[in-house]
Amino acid sequence: MSKIIKEIMKYLPEDKISEACFEAANIVLYTKSRDFFFNNNGMIKDIVHKIKKRIELRPDPSILMELEKAEKEIRSIIPEEAGVSQVIFDAQRSQVVIEAEKPGLAIGKQGALLKEIREKTLWIPLIRRTPAIRSQLIENIRAVLFQNSDNRRKFLDKVGHRIYDGWIREKKHEWIRMTWLGAGRQVGRSCILLQTPESRVLLDCGVDVASDKDAYPSLEVPEFRVNELDAVIISHSHLDHCGFIPYLFKYDYRGPVYCTEPTRDVMALLLLDYIKIMRSDGKEPIFSSDDVKEMVKHTICLDFDEVSDITPDIRITLHNSGHIIGSAMVHLHIGNGLHNILYTGDQKYGKTQLLEPATTKFQRLETLIIEGTYGGRDSVLPPKRECEKFLADIITKTIKRKGKILIPVLGSGRAQEVMLIVESLVRNGELEPVPVYIDGMVWDITAIHSAYPEFLNNQVRKRIFHKNQNPFLNEMFKSIGSAKERKELIEEGKPCIVMATSGMLVGGPSVQYLKAFAGSSKNSLVFVAYQGEGSLGRRIQRGEREIAFANGNKQEMVEIKMEINTIEGFTGHSGRKQLMSYIYKLVPKPRKVIVNHGEASRCLDLASSIHKVYRIESVAPRNLETIRLR
Ligand SMILES: [Zn+2]
Repeated sequence: MSKIIKEIMKYLPEDKISEACFEAANIVLYTKSRDFFFNNNGMIKDIVHKIKKRIELRPDPSILMELEKAEKEIRSIIPEEAGVSQVIFDAQRSQVVIEAEKPGLAIGKQGALLKEIREKTLWIPLIRRTPAIRSQLIENIRAVLFQNSDNRRKFLDKVGHRIYDGWIREKKHEWIRMTWLGAGRQVGRSCILLQTPESRVLLDCGVDVASDKDAYPSLEVPEFRVNELDAVIISHSHLDHCGFIPYLFKYDYRGPVYCTEPTRDVMALLLLDYIKIMRSDGKEPIFSSDDVKEMVKHTICLDFDEVSDITPDIRITLHNSGHIIGSAMVHLHIGNGLHNILYTGDQKYGKTQLLEPATTKFQRLETLIIEGTYGGRDSVLPPKRECEKFLADIITKTIKRKGKILIPVLGSGRAQEVMLIVESLVRNGELEPVPVYIDGMVWDITAIHSAYPEFLNNQVRKRIFHKNQNPFLNEMFKSIGSAKERKELIEEGKPCIVMATSGMLVGGPSVQYLKAFAGSSKNSLVFVAYQGEGSLGRRIQRGEREIAFANGNKQEMVEIKMEINTIEGFTGHSGRKQLMSYIYKLVPKPRKVIVNHGEASRCLDLASSIHKVYRIESVAPRNLETIRLR
């Protein structure tokens, strides 16, 4: 028995606990006594307070109400208006997932209905929102997790043992080192190896989609061994932060991947799409859909502000980063208080249509690792309102001359931001209604936005809760789901807006639309996302107008006559001013700032300004450099 469970048992009547196990950092106890389950007089709370770990008491599966009867009971307790669809039992964990259109009504006032379900059936109810837009891919992910619930239980117990088997209460005075395996003075392939005497953890594990020769993080360094890796933490679902994880699973990594729930779903979609794109580009995919499935099975989702141990000496908390849905800044509390690190991932310190700005208050902080995508003195972003007017202008002009507008997007983030902007421009009468076609992957990710409104900002959340106001369900948005529909849309002459992946025109449907629309000066191409060094998007921005595409063994030349525009103000990244004011507002002040995820000159510029203005030690490491924090 694990040391920590022995310690807990000391405080409990021995005959009341039938089983104790881990669910990652949660310690789960089962009891066969109905009376002890409902009336343990705060015994569990006291222990939680003593050892500062999360403990959950559940009824032993043997005393639960039988399934059919329990389902009937649950459906009679929850009012019809709540719109309960599925009721899914996880018998081994004594939990029941209830899917409802209106979770609030299913929960009842101050959880009254949940309490009633628990008392009558002993099952532990978890309420989940039925997504307003159905997505086959989301349903598949949930099915994978459900079908493997037995393995999942074993996996979570194993993770718990890794965390707690070396458990001690004292502060550990040890060393901490971080090595940049990617994103050092570049945008792309974010990947940092964090080492302590007890832990080997990766912060992000992405690819550089714009690069051919240095696309992957440098995992071949001697200090990295996949079999020694304890955990992978993913800040958000963009491929430059998560695109290489399935490769770890291909090489038998079987440890946990930590992220938020929307990140898990969007990440799985983008990774499956990435395999398709590699194939259609005639490249051998670097991993398979089975590897992506394995990743999903090993993902542990955390909510914002939920504190969780991940190794014997690292505790993490995810905080809103304001970049895309589910995007997180990772706070790491190392060695029982020895050192605290904040890794921002990609962040936006400013309000957007979709999200709240990045969090600024933390309990403790010694080292800040911040992104520098727009960190250069030259990267001052124009005001958002100005950008919205500019977009409305481009759309109006193009529609007037009967053209089409192509907006290449990353799938998650700018796509939904621009959807909301267009929707509000039309609602406010600043733009004539115009059909907006949302291609494949983008539509699925929009569905995920409707499934997790609690991750969006107040205004959007409120509108999604009232189904008839859900902005994503506006009839102006039309989904393009197949190659056939895409072909019809291309051949149809009517003016419209098209949003499609990839965001940098490096494969995917956006390139097909580009080829079809490029030849007419009536059409417009609008860049709203960051265009990576070497990508086709960046080349067009720089003025290239004759593009060679591989077509089998032959080359096909496409001349670009359409109007080209770039709107940088919709970015999900902080601009230079926002980065500087983020550090100004940050509480407490870090002692050291490390700048990464930006072109070399911008990283260096931001690091030196931080030092000059705030007198904080700063550095912009190159790839393969290691920084010792303690
Ligand atoms: Zn990103």
